[in-house]
Amino acid sequence: MTPLPPPRLAEIERRTRPVDPEVQRALDERWADLPDHVKTPAQLMGKKTTSCEGTHGVFPACDFACKPCYHSTEANRVRIDGPHTVEQVDRQMAYLRARRGPGVHAQLIGGEVSLLSPEDHAAALEAMHRHQRFPMSFTHGDFDYDYLERLAVRPDGTRRFDVLAFALHFDTTMHGRRGAPHPTDERELHPFRERAVALFERLRREHGVRHHLAHNMTVTPANLGQIADVVRDCRALGYRVFSFQPAAHVGNQRRWDQDHRTMTDDDVWAEIERGVGARLPYRGLQMGDLRCNRATWGLWVGDRYVPVVDDTDPRDLRARDAFFRTLPGSFLFVPRPIMVARIARSLLVHRRDAATGLAWAARLLRRAGGPRAVLGSRVHPTTYAMHSFMDAADVAPAWELLKRGEVADHPRIRATQERLQACAYAMGHPETDEIVPACVQHGVLDPAENAQLAVLLPRGRRQEAPASG
Ligand code: SF4
Repeated sequence: MTPLPPPRLAEIERRTRPVDPEVQRALDERWADLPDHVKTPAQLMGKKTTSCEGTHGVFPACDFACKPCYHSTEANRVRIDGPHTVEQVDRQMAYLRARRGPGVHAQLIGGEVSLLSPEDHAAALEAMHRHQRFPMSFTHGDFDYDYLERLAVRPDGTRRFDVLAFALHFDTTMHGRRGAPHPTDERELHPFRERAVALFERLRREHGVRHHLAHNMTVTPANLGQIADVVRDCRALGYRVFSFQPAAHVGNQRRWDQDHRTMTDDDVWAEIERGVGARLPYRGLQMGDLRCNRATWGLWVGDRYVPVVDDTDPRDLRARDAFFRTLPGSFLFVPRPIMVARIARSLLVHRRDAATGLAWAARLLRRAGGPRAVLGSRVHPTTYAMHSFMDAADVAPAWELLKRGEVADHPRIRATQERLQACAYAMGHPETDEIVPACVQHGVLDPAENAQLAVLLPRGRRQEAPASG
C-alpha cells in the first residue's frame, strides 16, 4: 500500500479530532462571553453549541393577524421578494458562520415563510446549508401539499433535501387560517395540527424526504388552561418538539388584546407537565438562562414519558458531565464515518465515561419499564420546551445600557441585561458587525429595519396583505 503523504495524514488527524478546531474556537469564545451566572455544569452553550440562530428582515410580511404578533406594524408594508430573501439569508448566515463556527441550528423566520415561492424558499434553505446551518422553517402551516412538494423536489423529480425541519405554529391567538379563521378553542385546531404532519408524511412516502417537526404554541392567559389538552391529544401525531412561548409585550401594539403578565413561567410549565402526566426536569441541561429557556428531552414509551436526564439523580448528572466531556460540539454536517472516528478517539481517551454512559442507558431502560416495555411499545423521542421572550419596554433600556457598558440599577432591567448577555437565540447583523438577541431584534431593531425595507421593497397594490396591521 502506498503510504499517505503527510499533509493528507494531518488532514485526517484534524478531521477526526473529538471536536473540530474551528468549532472548539467558537465554543471557547462563546463560553468566555457568557455571564458567570449561567456557567453551570448543565450549560449547553459553549460546550455543545454556540446558540440557536434566526434570520431577520428577510421576508417580514405575513398573511395572518395573530394577537399578539411579534412583528412590527411596518412588517406588512414590505413586499415578499425572493432575491432579497436569498441574498440576505446568505449574508447573515455567512456572518454567523464566521463568528459562531459551523454546525448550528438556525430558524428561517421573519413573516410567513410560505409566502415565498417554493423555489425561493428552497434557495434560502440551500444558502443556510452552504454555511453549515441546519435550517428550520417557521410557518403557520397553512399551505398545501403542492407547495411542500415543489419545495422539496426539483422539477426533474430529484430530491432537493433529504430532511426538512419545520416549526409549525398553531394556537388560538392566530387569525386567518383557512377553515378556522378565528378559533376559540385549541381543540378546533387539532385537525389542522394533524393535517400538517400528514403532508410531511406523504412527502416522506412519495419522495423519501424525512421530516423533523416542532409544534409551536403562543400561550396567553386565555389559552393557558388548554395547554394540557394540546399536549395530551397531540403527543403522538408526529411532532418531535412541543415548544411553548408565553406571550410577551413585543411588536405590533395594536395586537395586544390582554395583559400577558398575569401568568408566570411556572404556570405554563405546570400545564405542560399536567398534559404529559409527569414531572419535566429542566435543570439537568440548560440553554442560556433558565428564565428564558426550559427544556426536557425524553422518550415516550407507550403511555410513559421518560426524561433522558433526571436532574435530581446525581448519577444522571455525572452521566451528563461525561457526555459533555466525551462528545463536545455538535455532529451536524459531520459525515457518519468521521463522526464514528471522532467518538472512537474520544472514548479511547475517556474510557471511564463509556461505563458511565452504559450505566445511564441501563437506568433509562429501567425507568422506561424494562426491555419488555420498550420492545412492546411505540417509542418516540419528544422534547418539551418553553421560550419566554421579554417585554420590549424592558429590553430597550437594558440593551441601551449594555451597549454603553453600564449595569442597570433597577433590578428588573438588570435581570433583563443578564438574560440578554446569556441569550440562546441570536440574529446576525453583518452591516454593524453585531450579533443581537432575538428579543432585541423584535423589541428594538425591527421597526426601523422594516421601515427601511418598506422603502426598498414597497408593497404593490397586488401584494397587499389581507391581514395587515
Ligand atoms: S431571545 Fe430573549 S428570551 Fe430568548 S434567549 Fe435571547 S434574551 Fe432570552
